[in-house]
Amino acid sequence: VPASTSSRHIRPTLLVSRLYQPASLRDMRQDTLLKGEMTCKSQRLMQKAGLIHPSNPGCYYYLPATVRSMEKLMRVIDQEMQGIGGQKLDMPSLCSAELWKNSGRWDLMGKELLRLKDRHGGDYCLAPTHEEAVTTLVAHQTTLSHRLMPLLLYQVITRKFRDEPKPRFGLLRGREFYMKDMYSFDVSEEAAYQTYESVCQAYTRLFARLGLRCVQVQADTGNIGGKLSHEFQLPTMSSDRTDCPQCNTGTLVESRGIEVGHTFYLGKKYSQIFNATFSNYQNKSEVAEMGCYGLGVTRILAAAIEVMSTEEEIRWPGLLAPYQVCVLPPKKGSKVDKAAVLAEELVHTLGETLPGLRGEVVLDDRTQMTIGKRLKDASKLGYPYVIVAGQGALEETPRFEVICQQTGETMFLSRDGLLDLL
Ligand code: ATP
Ligand code: MG
Ligand code: MG
Ligand code: MG
Repeated sequence: VPASTSSRHIRPTLLVSRLYQPASLRDMRQDTLLKGEMTCKSQRLMQKAGLIHPSNPGCYYYLPATVRSMEKLMRVIDQEMQGIGGQKLDMPSLCSAELWKNSGRWDLMGKELLRLKDRHGGDYCLAPTHEEAVTTLVAHQTTLSHRLMPLLLYQVITRKFRDEPKPRFGLLRGREFYMKDMYSFDVSEEAAYQTYESVCQAYTRLFARLGLRCVQVQADTGNIGGKLSHEFQLPTMSSDRTDCPQCNTGTLVESRGIEVGHTFYLGKKYSQIFNATFSNYQNKSEVAEMGCYGLGVTRILAAAIEVMSTEEEIRWPGLLAPYQVCVLPPKKGSKVDKAAVLAEELVHTLGETLPGLRGEVVLDDRTQMTIGKRLKDASKLGYPYVIVAGQGALEETPRFEVICQQTGETMFLSRDGLLDLL
């Protein structure tokens, strides 16, 4: 039963009293794996706000608000990947050991590879990444023409599995997490470098769109192999300054960062092994040049919360907030009780007038609580805009108090002023 009977005509999913956001603080104290240094700000905030719930080490329930946010992030990633010619496909997570033995990574990955046997005794793993699988797929196509290249294939954003030695920090280091992985096939080293560059640019654009400061740093190629590699990191703490030991002219600023993306130029490492060839301009068969490019989708979400939030209040990249606006009607029985109707009207008007806000405006209908208490909650959850319908809403030209949570700015705006702002 909705807390406010007058708000019955608003969809239940837009009423705060009906949202499924259970805080999982208790589990945090009980689960030894989540104690002390095993926790971090984003994990604490996400559990407290009912965004995630711990299941077993390194695995989480992603609760409804998180799924909304993830879907938004996936949409932006899709736009950027398709903008540079990426085509989406889907590959099995259950991978046969044979592929991994061919590349040598069955042994190389060690305990991080989650292995299992099927009923016939066959060895399998739950894929931590898909270089082997995608290269095998392309190798099957005997007539891959140079006309199809550069061929950029990326996978429906899906779960990857890694038996991390220390799964911790919530979604930052899970054993099961979402990754966007793309693989490129090119006709020459030069073309592969160009593709590599265009993916790096797409990553840079993505983080700029999210309003996240991200740096591209030279990186180790790890067990994926290859010659050229960059990590995309969100800087956390800078410690900041000494003379640069490399060029001796500049200043070196050391900074910690969270790895949110990783690009690799692979050359022919995998294409040679799996015989991924194409027919060149002279109709001769040649081994393709490859690259692979990962984005930690769940990690981006948690890392954004980590770098943008205070100790107590979540702040999101505007594009990723689960809901954009929260409207607060007055407390039931208060002097300005009548403004409740205007608050509900506003929820409708915003959703109907601004297509971008359809399904994005919630009404905090828990009117048995004071405005102050609900404002505090709204602040903790980090809705980009919070609108209070109070005394001003009852004036001849109704005015609403608008709090922009990113800047902390408060404004008093008419309905038209609000529509302009949003
Ligand atoms: P890390 O150094 O943190 O272990 P990685 O270098 O092993 O990460 P990559 O193989 O480069 O990871 O995978 C691509 C991206 O997937 C990473 O940049 C990161 O954003 C994400 N990622 C990797 N491991 C995890 C994990 N355990 N949990 C969440 N995201 C992860
Ligand atoms: Mg790792
Ligand atoms: Mg790494
Ligand atoms: Mg990496």
